Amino acid sequence: MIKTFSDKIKIPVTKPFLPPIEEYQNELQKIWKRNWLTNNGPVLKLLEKSISEKLALNSEIITVNNGTTALQLAFKALDLKGEVITTPFSYVATTSSLVWEGLKPIYVDIKQNDFNINENLIESAITEKTTAILATHVFGVPNNTKVIKKIAEKYNLKVIYDAAHCFGAKNSDGSVFDLGDISITSFHATKLFHTVEGGALFTQQKDIAKRIRLMRNFGHDGPTNFSGIGINGKMSEIHAAMGIVNLRYINSIITSRKSAYNLYKTLLDEQKFNFQEIPDNIAYNYPYFPLLFEDEVKAISAQKELFNKEGIQTRRYFHPILSELDYVEANSSLNIARDISSRILCLPLYADIDSRYVELICNYLNSNF
Ligand SMILES: *Cc1c(COP(=O)(O)O)cnc(C)c1O
Repeated sequence: MIKTFSDKIKIPVTKPFLPPIEEYQNELQKIWKRNWLTNNGPVLKLLEKSISEKLALNSEIITVNNGTTALQLAFKALDLKGEVITTPFSYVATTSSLVWEGLKPIYVDIKQNDFNINENLIESAITEKTTAILATHVFGVPNNTKVIKKIAEKYNLKVIYDAAHCFGAKNSDGSVFDLGDISITSFHATKLFHTVEGGALFTQQKDIAKRIRLMRNFGHDGPTNFSGIGINGKMSEIHAAMGIVNLRYINSIITSRKSAYNLYKTLLDEQKFNFQEIPDNIAYNYPYFPLLFEDEVKAISAQKELFNKEGIQTRRYFHPILSELDYVEANSSLNIARDISSRILCLPLYADIDSRYVELICNYLNSNF
């Protein structure tokens, strides 16, 4: 029997990992006994410590209630003003959070091979209003952080990485979360490690970490003392408990995704399709399977036909490019981002996806496109 989300979708593009319910219940029972549901509780503290150990972080970790809050807190904690150089090829939150915080996104085109911001184009986009660079490690592939760091130092800019896809990803220096002034991630249900809703910030700067901790809790510095402005960015004990349990499964989640990913790569016809380039010197975490078709017409018709004929869901991820949003200034360049975004589809990938589905999808795509 094929498990279905709805009658139409037989194979979803993603599926949240759920641990054995007894394990979660066990954690909930402890919370019930303690009667401590939020406000920097013991489960949250344990989650922060466990993630930090699991990923061998050099940074401090500050968990929050979602990845978008993490982005907003990052901009506030670094006192960003004016313009921020960013990528047009990312999830909407990468741009919407900037605009929400009164910052102006300035887009720089991406690279054909790994879909990340083209670091060689950053310098020419810098003006006297620029205060930061915000780059996404697209689909878990790290940016050229050495070059970005050099540019930031030269122009005295802050660097923030949207590492929402990067749980478990490493480069030669260790966890990708250690990069930049601040890295943020998301623990949303569809990410490969999740707390249902959740996120975190990572920084090696103690004063910034302290500031973020105050800001996520209204600025509370004691019951009646406030140290600056804050918001409510706290993660609850109930959410943290899901993280504690899911963390036990993260190795097997990544291993399982890896085998599905590799099967796609082996079976799909390289003459017809292009893939994101994964560098050899990284520990990759297999968060998505993006596929580039020859053109937009083929990508759209593949999406429709896979769905109509087989109930297979795919996603135009990321589409549209972020400079097309109606609340940002239009930008007619960004040709590579525009091109990639027009012909990319993410194929179904989640832990324990049945390899027969992967075979079916590959056979179908190879023989029809
Ligand atoms: C998921 C995601 C976010 C937003 O995270 P939430 O936890 O859903 O708020 C931001 N950026 C990227 C690249 C994402 O994939």
